[in-house]
Amino acid sequence: MAAEKQTRAFEAEVSQVLHLVTHSLYSHKDIFLRELISNASDACDKLRFAALSDASLTAADADLRIEIEFDKDARTLTIRDNGIGMSQGEVVENIGTIARSGTRKFLETLSGDARKDTQLIGQFGVGFYSAFIVADKVTLTTRKAGAPESDGVRWESSGTGEYTLETLDVAARGTTVTLHLKADEGEFLDGWKLRDLVKRYSDHVAFPIRLREDKDGKPDGEFETVNHAAALWTRPKAEISDEEYQAFYKSLTHDFNDALAWTHNRVEGSQSYTLLLYIPEKPPFDAVFSGRDERHGLKLYIRRVFIMDASEQLLPAYLRFVRGVVDSDDLPLNVSREILQDNRLVAQIRSACTKRVLDLLDKLAKDEPEKFKQFTAAFGNVLKEGIAEDGANRERIAKLLRFASTKSEGADKTVSLDDYVGRMQVGQDAIWYVTADSYLAAKNSPQIESLKARGIEVLLLGDRIDEWMVGYLHEYAGKKLRNAAKGDLDAVDGADAEARKQAEAASAPVVEKLAKVLGDAVEKVQVSHRLTDSPTCLVFGDYDMAPHMQRLLREAGHDVPASKPILEINPRNPLIQRFADETDEARSADLGHLLLEEAQLAAGDTLADPTAFIARVNRIALGT
Ligand code: ADP
Repeated sequence: MAAEKQTRAFEAEVSQVLHLVTHSLYSHKDIFLRELISNASDACDKLRFAALSDASLTAADADLRIEIEFDKDARTLTIRDNGIGMSQGEVVENIGTIARSGTRKFLETLSGDARKDTQLIGQFGVGFYSAFIVADKVTLTTRKAGAPESDGVRWESSGTGEYTLETLDVAARGTTVTLHLKADEGEFLDGWKLRDLVKRYSDHVAFPIRLREDKDGKPDGEFETVNHAAALWTRPKAEISDEEYQAFYKSLTHDFNDALAWTHNRVEGSQSYTLLLYIPEKPPFDAVFSGRDERHGLKLYIRRVFIMDASEQLLPAYLRFVRGVVDSDDLPLNVSREILQDNRLVAQIRSACTKRVLDLLDKLAKDEPEKFKQFTAAFGNVLKEGIAEDGANRERIAKLLRFASTKSEGADKTVSLDDYVGRMQVGQDAIWYVTADSYLAAKNSPQIESLKARGIEVLLLGDRIDEWMVGYLHEYAGKKLRNAAKGDLDAVDGADAEARKQAEAASAPVVEKLAKVLGDAVEKVQVSHRLTDSPTCLVFGDYDMAPHMQRLLREAGHDVPASKPILEINPRNPLIQRFADETDEARSADLGHLLLEEAQLAAGDTLADPTAFIARVNRIALGT
């Protein structure tokens, strides 16, 4: 019984994505088949899982499979599965809208440069819509497993602005997608071509993919299984080629790019499981990297049956970039999220996953430096969270981090803590670093001048997360990490204490004069052993929060009590001498405040009273 056909408009964002997909992915058009087969395979996985608690769902037809057939006369290519199917509501929800929260942001990121955008769309994952690369009309007919025949749904669209929906009788459960191929896409109406594509991109799919040979162009021939039809991870490593691993990664993640690296292990012992874990080349374009809450990409199987996406249970948050499959022999099939939360077997698998990923990263760092560099650029900042989150692996994670430093060229993060420790100077007992809002600000921090002058390497930490991270990394390889802008520098640099005392005594009058001018604005004024060029800089106590950290927290709405800075002066600097020699009271006040304000600006602070600052600079410039 066919009900009335209704026409609905796509969400504006869907239309935009569709337009982009069809126009920019043309040179990768083959992917549509992989995407549709991957959806069909997911649908079979979902049904098998649902049948665990309701066996009647598959009773009539237990052989889950995917079928492909074509009709040369009608110019149609059909991909059919007998998986879970969809209700009308689900069709509207899944195919007519884009539920992903990052879509808007994704669209805003597009540059208009076709090559770059193609990459981005790949990272975003195009899925079902890729059908419109080769088809000018797509018909999807589906019936949810367990629903009556009369609950069938037909969805149809030419991929422009709208789609039609109608209810009709559908005899078998599952989904059939029929592509009405564009005029010049005849190559997909060919058994050899299709067989080749399935072998190349979908061989690893765990369900049989059966291709129907044509008879005089009509889909009247025999069905023949064309793929391996065994879950990839269950096969011996030696039998799996890199291409197969990559093809599996792509259909698992819908990522367009290759995986950077992977690790595949079968563990047998008190419990048995298989891990196949991938590190992507680039962060995917979705919510994973805008928030820590939404995580997906690690699929839990139990004895080959897909159970659920369980990244959160199987991986710590700082490894949320990892994608892959965990297949356990021992967990109960009726496992729930709650059980996963505190299950001893799951805890073991989780720490095994962590260890395998860290091993893989070690290996990459050692054997494939270029790839490791790519990893650092893509996920280095996520990994840093592990310093705080995973105390047990802190040293291992620290070993994998890379930083910019005063002894490496540019903002490229290439220096490891091992590199640093390996070239520490005789007598140097700390790993020095400075944190700031950016690489450039860190590089130009006045606080590191004297360390630089003495040839001591300083790590330049310019990422938002760094200040927080170093709060958890007090030591590496037995060496203390020290912030160049904090605490007492002369206590550790081994310089002549007597000479310093003398210098401080000689500068006592200017210190006192400046302290008087600045009054409450600073905690105190002192002679610096950090500066060689700049006149002044701000420093903090060992346990004070760095100024840019205070700023970050304030921006995030926290109530952070303002701690007063210590102002250090460089008595050799001509501006300090000029201030010391100034006899006019008003001009002394101007110069004194300027010295503080310069230090605040160099630290990336905003000034409390910019207008007063400008007036001061003007008075000094005019010599009034
Ligand atoms: P993704 O697969 O990345 O979620 P798609 O655009 O490919 O994105 O598909 C959107 C949703 O539509 C899927 O998540 C699934 O719920 C549903 N869907 C697509 N194809 C099928 C199918 N063959 N059977 C059942 N559901 C499907």
